[in-house]
Amino acid sequence: MSDSTLAPLRVKKNEERRLRAGHPWVYSNEVDTERTPLSGFEPGQPVEVRDFRDAPLGTGYINPHALICARLVSRDPAHPFSASLLVHRLNIALALREMRYDKPFYRLVYGDSDGLPGLVVDRYDTVLVVQMATAGMERMKEDVLAALDKVIKPSAILLRNDSAARAMEGLESYVTVAAGLVPDVVALEENGVRFQAPLLTGQKTGWFYDQRENRARLAPYVRGKRVLDMFSYLGGFGIQAAAFGADSVLCVDSSAPALEGVHANVALNAFSATVDTLHGDAFDALKQLREQREHFDVVVVDPPAFIKRKKDMKEGVQAYRRINQMAMQVLAKDGILLSCSCSFHMTRESLLEQMLGAARHIDRSLQILEQGHQATDHPVHPAISETDYLKCFVGRVLPA
Ligand code: SAH
Repeated sequence: MSDSTLAPLRVKKNEERRLRAGHPWVYSNEVDTERTPLSGFEPGQPVEVRDFRDAPLGTGYINPHALICARLVSRDPAHPFSASLLVHRLNIALALREMRYDKPFYRLVYGDSDGLPGLVVDRYDTVLVVQMATAGMERMKEDVLAALDKVIKPSAILLRNDSAARAMEGLESYVTVAAGLVPDVVALEENGVRFQAPLLTGQKTGWFYDQRENRARLAPYVRGKRVLDMFSYLGGFGIQAAAFGADSVLCVDSSAPALEGVHANVALNAFSATVDTLHGDAFDALKQLREQREHFDVVVVDPPAFIKRKKDMKEGVQAYRRINQMAMQVLAKDGILLSCSCSFHMTRESLLEQMLGAARHIDRSLQILEQGHQATDHPVHPAISETDYLKCFVGRVLPA
């Protein structure tokens, strides 16, 4: 059965295979442009994707100007991409988060992985921060907002439509309050620790929920210890280390407002640790700490993506190597290094190789104690390797 109300988009012979195998994207060079010319579509228009025999593969939306030309949203002909499908998918997404987390602070929607390509929603209890990255989602904006209202009944929705991905879809960049009154800062709780995050001035959607499980990994290693949190942002790792019983914590970031946020977050919790901040470039700060012969029992390295595009690969890999080596140089004997990469292009193997290379260069050996991924509110789509981006290693750095 096919949905005759939707414009058909035909793919060339054999190009249906990847789609049938579970991948939801149609690239522009896979379209049978003789039978369905791209000039016949508007950005964001809903379509029914069909194979060369005209058999329906599913429904979704198209952007004739983008390299990823169409995205499948539904494979069920009875339930095409629509306002009611949005509500249905939101409920399924919500059920996962409610199963995994006992408090309403999480990423509620993670794009393709939740069957809602181009949509990201972070939840701070009744306040939602929404990002739309594709023309197809942008076109459904009012339906998305109505669906969120129905499923979550939020007090406020902030549309943070300023991601870099929008340019590739020919979309403008803007931030606007879509509903209610958006407070300057929102409260959240993670692993039993309280935080507040700035929404309008903060980075991305305000908080990096993807590190929740990796922050929890600190607990067994930090009691009574001295901890260094590099690239701390609002202190997600460092303040949790303090709450898990660390003796002292130093948070380093190049953003002064982020470090003000660290102090605000210290004040929200009751622990005996001292938490200090150091404002500056991470590489300079590590050099300075090393020259001062400072040592830490646990060092966290959670940099921004050093490899944003494939062409940054060589330089980016070097940056991971350097930051890990410098972190090891301020580690106390038998210290613990929690090292992350959120660059999709940096593979797990490559990060490990850089960590080992760094250890060997300074004549240490390395044990890997734990390996982490992004939190479960960022599920991986098994056909889209880009959705599996966050790597985390907990290593122990020993004398050679
Ligand atoms: N660890 C944080 C998230 C880190 S995001 C958490 O758990 O939430 C990356 C952080 O690195 C940002 O706060 C950014 O301000 C900071 N940053 C980027 N480049 C930097 C540099 N060269 N030196 C120090 N901090 C940097």
